[in-house]
Order: sequence, then structure tokens, then C-alpha cells
Amino acid sequence: MNDDLASLIRTIPDFPKPGIQFRDITTLLLDPDGLATAVRRMVDATRGPVDLVAGIEARGFLFAAALAVPLRAGVLLIRKDGKLPGATIAEEYALEYGEDRIAMHADACAPGARVLLIDDLIATGGTARAAVRLLRRAGAEVGQAQFLVDLPDLGGADALRSDGIQVDALVS
Ligand code: 5GP
Repeated sequence: MNDDLASLIRTIPDFPKPGIQFRDITTLLLDPDGLATAVRRMVDATRGPVDLVAGIEARGFLFAAALAVPLRAGVLLIRKDGKLPGATIAEEYALEYGEDRIAMHADACAPGARVLLIDDLIATGGTARAAVRLLRRAGAEVGQAQFLVDLPDLGGADALRSDGIQVDALVS
């Protein structure tokens, strides 16, 4: 049983741009025990009942779906703008590198739905904070966000906490 999740994540230098140390979680996904351990720990860290697990494109989708099944919740997709087929609402955000817009279906969640936000990694927090703004505009109650990896030096988790979100990560 591989309990050491950090050892399953590798660092790729200079991806996608020179100077970026990219934390590659595909090696954890390839490890059956590591993947099972990560999902179980995220389920165990979940507070309170959850109606929807919101996953951020693309790696967040994997963990959102894996958590939603044992939590008996639905999955809400937060995608890059322009990819969802129905009417959407969108938010702009600054990435660790560049700028982007994320979107969700405008009718994806009922007012008051209890939403758990999931992504593979939080760096500056720009993506996750935009996702929270989006979900709150749609009427969701977002109480918690979980990540496989937190890069604490970049301050994203603390910024998200200042938005009133409980933040948990399996690896720092
Ligand atoms: P943030 O918006 O917090 O600065 O960046 C987090 C977002 O960018 C997440 O959606 C995450 O998937 C992606 N990201 C940024 N840096 C990395 C990295 O080093 N590794 C991985 N796996 N994703 C990253």
C-alpha cells in the first residue's frame, strides 16, 4: 500500500513555460493504491452533507467524480469558457501563468445547493476563487474546497479561506 502520496507526484521543470516547476499528478493516477488512498482521504475529509461536487477542468473532474459516488452527490462541471453546450455564466481569473475564463451551466445547481469544490492543485488560488464566485452567483452554498496538492508559498489556500471556504489538501 503506497500511503506516501507526495512520492507519487513528480516535478517537471519548465512546463508549460521556462521557470515553472509543474507538479505532475498523472503518476499518482497511474498507481492503484495511491489513487484509492487519495480518494478515500478526500471522502474522509468531507464535512457535512454535499449535494454536488464541483470539479474544475480537467484533472479536477477525475477526483470530483470519484468523490461524488461514495458521497451520493452529483457532479457539476466547471470548464474553460466556450466548452459547455447550454447557457452558461462565466468568470475571469488570473492563472499562475496567463489569464482565462471559466464557466458553468447557468442552471446546473438549485439555489441553496451544498457544493464541495474539487481540483487537483491550488497555486495562486485564482482558478478556485473564480469557481467560488461562479458557484455563489448561481446560488450555491460553497462551504469547502479540497485539493490533492497545495502550493502554500503561493498563498491560494489562505486567499480561499478569506472567502469563507474551508480548505483541505492532501499534500503540501
Ligand atoms: P491557480 O489558479 O491556483 O494559480 O492554479 C491552479 C490551477 O492551475 C488548477 O486548475 C491546476 O490544475 C492548474 N495548475 C497550476 N499549476 C499546476 C501544477 O504545477 N500542477 C498541476 N497539476 N496543475 C497546476
